[in-house]
Amino acid sequence: MDKKVLDRYLRLPIPFNKILATYIWIDGSGINLRSKDRVLPCMPLAVDQAPFWGFDGSSTGLARTENSDTKLKPVRVYKDPFRCEPHVLVLCEVFLPDGKPALTNHRSYCNALCEHHAQEDPWFGLEQEYTMLDVDGWGLGWPKGGGFPAVKYDFSYCGVGAKYIAGRDIVEAHARSCLYSELDFEGTNAEVMHASWEWQIGASQGVKAADDLWTSRYIMARVAEDHGVQISYHPKPIGMQHPGIGMHHNFSTKTMRDDGGYKFIQECIKKLETNHQKHMEYYSVDPEGNRMRLSGRFETAHHDCFSYGVANRSASIRIQRSVEKEGKGYFEDRRPAGDCDPYVVCGLLLETCLGSAPG
Ligand code: ADP
Ligand code: MN
Ligand code: MN
Ligand code: MN
Ligand code: MN
Repeated sequence: MDKKVLDRYLRLPIPFNKILATYIWIDGSGINLRSKDRVLPCMPLAVDQAPFWGFDGSSTGLARTENSDTKLKPVRVYKDPFRCEPHVLVLCEVFLPDGKPALTNHRSYCNALCEHHAQEDPWFGLEQEYTMLDVDGWGLGWPKGGGFPAVKYDFSYCGVGAKYIAGRDIVEAHARSCLYSELDFEGTNAEVMHASWEWQIGASQGVKAADDLWTSRYIMARVAEDHGVQISYHPKPIGMQHPGIGMHHNFSTKTMRDDGGYKFIQECIKKLETNHQKHMEYYSVDPEGNRMRLSGRFETAHHDCFSYGVANRSASIRIQRSVEKEGKGYFEDRRPAGDCDPYVVCGLLLETCLGSAPG
């Protein structure tokens, strides 16, 4: 569709007492987002000014047709980068008719842990990798008809030039949009595989990291849609001979950041080792896909074998050289797949390292 034609309508003034709110939620797939719009009388400045809403849960894989009145509970409001202020994006949690969280609503779990451990002031930094696909489902800028990029992947990480990267306009538009919406957006880089990229969210306090990550995924879907491009978070989108797609989780607590925190970091890593298999079950919506990604190649540790190391990119957990030197800081969990739910991963990190929340 011609964006120039749309522009005529976007210039139409609308009444001063009407704004558009886009309600966003995670659907039954656990990775795709849905949204729908409603008119509100004014811009909600805080989340409690955005009303609850509902939708047909059976059409999004979240409820049965006979009992499909699924509820949307607003949890965070952002400025809408597509329509601009006073219009908003409203990130929501989904609840079933019986009042229980929907199958893919893991925010309650994560938030309870963040609140329970608030005195430890947990911070998260998330590195979201992804692949841009053309409408035909093949890598953006890759040779048509199933061919692979002519250049070796060694040149694409932080690469420059059409020979090595594709889709920079999308990266740029996404970065500007996330900053406009006041997400804790930190940066971007081109990744090892041609047409794959990364952005980072953080370091954010508690559940905000995962909230902002999900909202940044929504914004990415919309920006890519404008360009006729699909975004894939699949952990191993092209096959075993090609790089995988992850979402490293960087994590710290007050104790880790304070002097001598390195000792506590090491204690946490021991606990993560004990719970390795449990974490692996929850680190992707497609655990088999993540098993393919964690092959021991392409800067990954083997799926079944927990490891850690300083500055080691083929370990499950990496500790920065500077953290070892200063004796405090954070660690990086490299196991989560690109399609993980950061509510689940952040929640599990808190639960394993600091203990479960009551109830
Ligand atoms: P790399 O690609 O080398 O792993 P990035 O710069 O992409 O590194 O990501 C590093 C991440 O670590 C960022 O998201 C940043 O916010 C996060 N981070 C830095 N310090 C902390 C900390 N103290 N606690 C949690 N996360 C942190
Ligand atoms: Mn209807
Ligand atoms: Mn990174
Ligand atoms: Mn990366
Ligand atoms: Mn990393």
